[in-house]
Amino acid sequence: MLRKLFKFNGGVKPATNKADSTRDPIKPVPMPPQLVVPLHQHVGGTPHPLVAAGEQVLKGQRIGAADGNVSSAVHAPTSGRVLAIEHRVMAHTSGLTTLSVVIEPDGEDRWIDAQPLPWRSMGADELRDEMRDAGVVGLGGAVFPSHLKLKPGKSGTDTLVINGAECEPFITCDDLLMRERAKQIVRGAEIMQHMLQARRVLIGIEDNKPEAVAAMNQAIAARGASTMEAVAIPTRYPAGGAKQLIRVLTGIEVPHGHRSTDYGVQCFNTGTAYAIADVVDRGRPLISRIVTVAGNVERPGNYEVLFGTPMDHVAALAGVKADTDRFIMGGPMMGFRMPAYDVPVVKATNCILVGSEALFPAPAPEMACIRCGECARACPADLQPFELYWHSRAKNFGKAQEYHLFDCIECGCCAYVCPSHIPLVDYYRFSKSEIWARERQKDAADLARERFELRNERIEREKREKAEKLAAKTAAGRAAATADNAPAPSAEPAAASSDDSKKALIAAAMARAKAQRESAAAQPTLAPNNNIAPATPTATSAEEAPSASSTEKPL
Ligand code: SF4
Ligand code: SF4
Repeated sequence: MLRKLFKFNGGVKPATNKADSTRDPIKPVPMPPQLVVPLHQHVGGTPHPLVAAGEQVLKGQRIGAADGNVSSAVHAPTSGRVLAIEHRVMAHTSGLTTLSVVIEPDGEDRWIDAQPLPWRSMGADELRDEMRDAGVVGLGGAVFPSHLKLKPGKSGTDTLVINGAECEPFITCDDLLMRERAKQIVRGAEIMQHMLQARRVLIGIEDNKPEAVAAMNQAIAARGASTMEAVAIPTRYPAGGAKQLIRVLTGIEVPHGHRSTDYGVQCFNTGTAYAIADVVDRGRPLISRIVTVAGNVERPGNYEVLFGTPMDHVAALAGVKADTDRFIMGGPMMGFRMPAYDVPVVKATNCILVGSEALFPAPAPEMACIRCGECARACPADLQPFELYWHSRAKNFGKAQEYHLFDCIECGCCAYVCPSHIPLVDYYRFSKSEIWARERQKDAADLARERFELRNERIEREKREKAEKLAAKTAAGRAAATADNAPAPSAEPAAASSDDSKKALIAAAMARAKAQRESAAAQPTLAPNNNIAPATPTATSAEEAPSASSTEKPL
């Protein structure tokens, strides 16, 4: 039965440029002399290093532990020696560095003792922890830790969508993965379906990949997965955007500011499904991925690449042409220019697009926006790109957010159709990074204020506790002194009332004072100018004849 499909708004149809890299099967990559494995390869906290320089590691050994729940572990891609843990340039257009584990392969490629997981008998949390510790993150480019998404939504999960659309020009890594390893993808989807308790699984694949659709359907049939279906969808960029694919497959339009899980749909990439099957069936963490090498190369193709492998080491296998002037990670629409040729392949690297001036000529000079509205018509996220542009340009970030800046998936459709050649996505990225930076600053200030207040509170509490202790000690001392001065206990102390004891104490004090007065009267009077100060009471007299005030307190 043919499934009813739906349309998403906007989108464009750029040249796909996919045929050249799909001619050959996935190829291995010879071991590079060094692997530089960044600890931070995903959305969330940077893992803590678990190894030290000089240590020997095995292939698949955890070298970075997840930092909290929104994080994911990192593993040694091969066996060898840790040469250093130091900052190295990361695979990001900024050219910034990140803490990385540098490994010198020993050539043995020896695995850890990897064991399959008894996933059906494992608790959901336990299985999610395994995914976190195996370093599984979204391989469609978002690199969000997968274990966080493998939870049924509040009202459950109806549909698990596996994204095999791969709509970006030049990129074919998912296509090849589906053609060659469909069985494992179906297996991974089955595990995810179990974890999400999803009613059905829909695998969306653009109809320009008929071999992949056939391979997936064959694998589904062989598995007898009656609630799973591979669906060919029209080729239109960006059909691989999560919201767009969900719209096409289910008809659900996820509104601005909402998540697909609010509507019972969760979405994962085919590569992620494959990685999950590897964790469960072979006990192997995520240490490699399929990477397309295309563009200005002699032999475009797909390679299975260990994370940490320098990009130029991989690209060289495809025959980089002499006039190459850039490496782009990703495709021409959403990719980022790399700051150097030897930055490492990471979990987000789906494609090394080799560029040249001839292949990607410099854009025409930017002109003024003429408010033609072409960008809005092309936007698949139903945004007003020109409004976002104006507010980003004016650094009016609050307004840009009002226009749903963060719903922009940076697909580049708006810039693709803009007759004024405005690099619109660059403006949106700038706005987003400024907003994030300000939020980080605000968070840091809030944290500092909170710490300051907590510190003051602690100091005040300690002062208060000290004063209370001192008061208690003083009171105890006075009580002890009073007890010492009190007359000998009566024969029936327990029976004496507190009034009686007060009266007795007053009587004793008065008797002592009287005796003192009589004794003083019996002594000779001194002359007034003899410079002798009035007699101060001796310690004994002070104890024996307390002043009225000193007797009042204990009473
Ligand atoms: S397409 Fe370009 S010129 Fe036209 S409205 Fe959008 S930003 Fe302005
Ligand atoms: S880049 Fe953003 S604003 Fe432009 S078309 Fe894509 S989603 Fe819309």
